[in-house]
Amino acid sequence: MTDYDVIVVGGGPAGSMAAYSAASKGAKTIMLEKDRDIGYPVRCGEAVSDTGLRQFVEPKPEWIAATIKKIRMRSPDNTIIDFKSLMAGYVLHRRIFDYALANRASQVGAEIQTRAYVDGLIVEDDIVKGVKYQYMGEKRTLKAKIVIAADGVESRIGRMAGIRTAIKLHDIESGYQVTVGNIDIDQEMIDFYVGKNWAPGGYLWVFPKGDRMANIGLGVVGSKAKDYNSHDLLHKFLKEHYPQAAMLTSVCGGVPVAHTLKQITGNGIMLTGDAARMVNPVSGGGIVSGMHGGKIAGEVAMEAIAVGDVSSKGLAEYPKRWRKAGGKNHEALHRISTSIKDITDDELNRIALRVSKIPREERSVLKIFTVVAKEKPKILLDVTRAFVGA
Ligand SMILES: Cc1cc2nc3c(=O)[nH]c(=O)nc-3n(C[C@H](O)[C@H](O)[C@H](O)COP(=O)(O)OP(=O)(O)OC[C@H]3O[C@@H](n4cnc5c(N)ncnc54)[C@H](O)[C@@H]3O)c2cc1C
Repeated sequence: MTDYDVIVVGGGPAGSMAAYSAASKGAKTIMLEKDRDIGYPVRCGEAVSDTGLRQFVEPKPEWIAATIKKIRMRSPDNTIIDFKSLMAGYVLHRRIFDYALANRASQVGAEIQTRAYVDGLIVEDDIVKGVKYQYMGEKRTLKAKIVIAADGVESRIGRMAGIRTAIKLHDIESGYQVTVGNIDIDQEMIDFYVGKNWAPGGYLWVFPKGDRMANIGLGVVGSKAKDYNSHDLLHKFLKEHYPQAAMLTSVCGGVPVAHTLKQITGNGIMLTGDAARMVNPVSGGGIVSGMHGGKIAGEVAMEAIAVGDVSSKGLAEYPKRWRKAGGKNHEALHRISTSIKDITDDELNRIALRVSKIPREERSVLKIFTVVAKEKPKILLDVTRAFVGA
């Protein structure tokens, strides 16, 4: 006897999408979230592309803090490159957005329980059969045919099920971000700073949040984090660039810029979103990829339940569909991200100088990439190998 068909652990974008897709296919579903609120605390720059989002939901005005039309990048020697973005983007209010995704799942029948901290799995005959969790200090258990672990970058559920979830230091970025008020910035522009004086092995971002606010943060690659401290680098930047900024929130968190895990299923269990390392390794964006992973996980879960095979073999469609939907690109992006990390500050400066000579109206991500490839042919080779399979 089971209490549910599907238990989803974690109420982020991946969890809510998994709950939505399982419940909308008729699975009796519950989503357990350890925090008091869905969507809070927000540990995210909240940037997302319109096309990415639109694959799953119609963007609603109340989710959007700022609409992005322009991109600006700065090299280590402060050469500025700006251009119009061909693709519209948003900086979201994730607090509202995550809520809306969870609400959407509830409207197709998924139950939601907050303050439910999952601290163990029920395993019988090597098959995950449910979860143990604490609700307001009380120990509880729930049984299900499938558990979907959408418990984020610090995921423990996968490990509890015996899945290797460890990430190498050069595949994780240590992120620190503040949301600030009282600053004057172009609310249609996202700003990136690259180079080791801003964010060694990663980048620093300034994302507008409307009403003279912004998310300002940076990620330092894990292998350099012992020499560079994200918190200190960001505060140095704020002092130099936005001394008048009022700190409204500060958050820190890891961004897995890694390969998707080799194993994302076990008997009775599936991993999705950050827990499965589905973040775009180049941009560090994990909202859309997590939604994608969650959607596929929920669908496959219900199909496996319908045919009565929830073993890892019965769930094999999940990694297959993820790879087809984006996983293959994901591997390509991981290779590119590794090459990007090797670009020196001198090379970045040379690239920026070359791009700055392209008339502004002709600049685009593709043009910049062409210049990068000239400076660093290995990247071109990686991209070709990755996308063409050469
Ligand atoms: C500083 C920073 C900036 C970022 N900026 C961007 C950006 O601009 N754009 C972008 O696309 N991505 C960004 N990301 C990445 C993005 O935030 C994540 O990829 C995304 O949130 C992943 O969604 P998820 O549902 O997999 O995990 P999460 O959103 O992390 O959700 C996991 C949920 O599981 C819950 N949970 C964890 N353990 C348990 C447990 N044991 N029991 C119950 N619940 C549990 C957590 O409380 C959480 O609510 C950023 C990340 C960081 C750290």
